[in-house]
Amino acid sequence: MSPPSSNSLWMEQLQHIAPAPPLAGDTAADVVIVGAGFTGLWTAYYLKQRAPQLDIVVLEAHSAGHGASGRNGGWVIGELAGEERLLAGLAPAARDASLALLRDIPAEVGRVLAKEGLDCDFRHGGVLYCAARYPEQAGWLRQQLAHWHAHGHGEQDFAWLEPAALQQQLRLAQPYGAVFSPHVATIQPARLVRALARRVQELGVRLYEHSAVRAIRRHEAETAHGRVRANWVLPALEAYSAGVAGVRGQQIAVQSMLIATEPLPQQLWDQIGLAHGQAFSEWSRLVSYGQRTRDNRLVFGARGGYRFRGRLRTPFVLTAAEIAMRRQLMLELFPMLAPARITHAWGGNLGVARGFAPQIVVDAANGVICAGGYGGEGVGASNLAARCMAALICGSSDDVLQIPWLTTPAQLRQWEPEPLRWLGYNAILRSFDWEDRVLRNAHSPGWQRRLAQQLARRMAGLMQ
Ligand SMILES: Cc1cc2nc3c(=O)[nH]c(=O)nc-3n(C[C@H](O)[C@H](O)[C@H](O)COP(=O)(O)OP(=O)(O)OC[C@H]3O[C@@H](n4cnc5c(N)ncnc54)[C@H](O)[C@@H]3O)c2cc1C
Repeated sequence: MSPPSSNSLWMEQLQHIAPAPPLAGDTAADVVIVGAGFTGLWTAYYLKQRAPQLDIVVLEAHSAGHGASGRNGGWVIGELAGEERLLAGLAPAARDASLALLRDIPAEVGRVLAKEGLDCDFRHGGVLYCAARYPEQAGWLRQQLAHWHAHGHGEQDFAWLEPAALQQQLRLAQPYGAVFSPHVATIQPARLVRALARRVQELGVRLYEHSAVRAIRRHEAETAHGRVRANWVLPALEAYSAGVAGVRGQQIAVQSMLIATEPLPQQLWDQIGLAHGQAFSEWSRLVSYGQRTRDNRLVFGARGGYRFRGRLRTPFVLTAAEIAMRRQLMLELFPMLAPARITHAWGGNLGVARGFAPQIVVDAANGVICAGGYGGEGVGASNLAARCMAALICGSSDDVLQIPWLTTPAQLRQWEPEPLRWLGYNAILRSFDWEDRVLRNAHSPGWQRRLAQQLARRMAGLMQ
């Protein structure tokens, strides 16, 4: 049997389109955006909605969607990674208003897609956070649910499902219960990023592909074949910031990986469920998650990695062991998939900021604004970040600006130097992995189960 393709399933499903031309020579614009992923293209889109007269250039090193935006799990999440900490300092009314903005992200994406007639398999089917491999997960989920309910959310936002109710939506091998939330939608991400690229070009944005920026300076982005001078420079590079002078160090690259099955027959989907576009995840510190695609595959993501000094992993070809580990996790949830072929296994680089929450770094003196560090939750967050950046550039006092994620270069928290970073990452991950192994073994004694959880909790506390 041939090994799985190492291309992103999503990118492979796209029809070939002619690339945009590279930048050739110097030019000037009102705004230059560096990187044609969700952050860059949503920002170009919202800027054009607010100020159609703006002259906007987008510079992309490869082709639109080459980065995480064309490779992710396709969850549009109505939350921000680390949002509890991010919103903690707000007064109750401001906090509620911020949460409402966050929960509305999937609906906002749906509204734009409908308005613009963009097709990217968008389904607003909500999400099932499942206790699916060991009983402790049900306890953790119930605690999280109590927390959500104590902090302004109701049953309509997060609701407990007993195993029998869960089974009506998703049939897992070991169902211990789940939380259902409507605040997640799923998409085919490469279709969205390419549709956005096409749409902003129609709106007059100048997109240059195969135009790698090597330095970002005051009011300027420089490639090997020309420079763009602009009032505002917007690096929209997430993990790839490491490769560009001027924004290096604001976020570090970590890796995340996915597999996809062949299209599955209806009879298997009758056994699994997910009939209404629900996303699902397994509630552990080493999350695994997935979605059912329009052509009836299961896309399943789990675990990741960090490379010494935050090096990017590119090209990204999973090893046989990396694929086997993810397939094994998938089979623990869905044993009926044992005969299904894995046709694709791929990965991507995403960005994490030191505060483990996304940020928008505003360097007004030099005309540079940089959003990112979404920590694996950037599909929806990039849409909100784009609306914030568009409001900032247009000088409007929009509601979106109340999210307290604006910062300045001087306030940025720096990552620890190597080898501390690498050692810290691996120590934390090992504690999570040990906890997972202890808990999934039904014969682990009670003292060991408690110890493993205590240790992992403490290590998680370091991620602040
Ligand atoms: C495997 C995986 C699964 C994920 N799953 C989810 C999920 O289900 N839900 C979710 O919310 N988030 C998920 N994420 C995170 C999410 O995909 C990212 O946070 C988001 O796509 C970031 O978008 P971006 O536009 O900021 O960056 P990117 O999409 O990475 O775009 C950066 C762009 O910059 C370009 N570039 C790089 N260097 C240069 C240069 N020198 N000059 C010009 N251009 C350059 C790149 O080619 C790329 O196109 C996942 C990420 C990965 C990797």
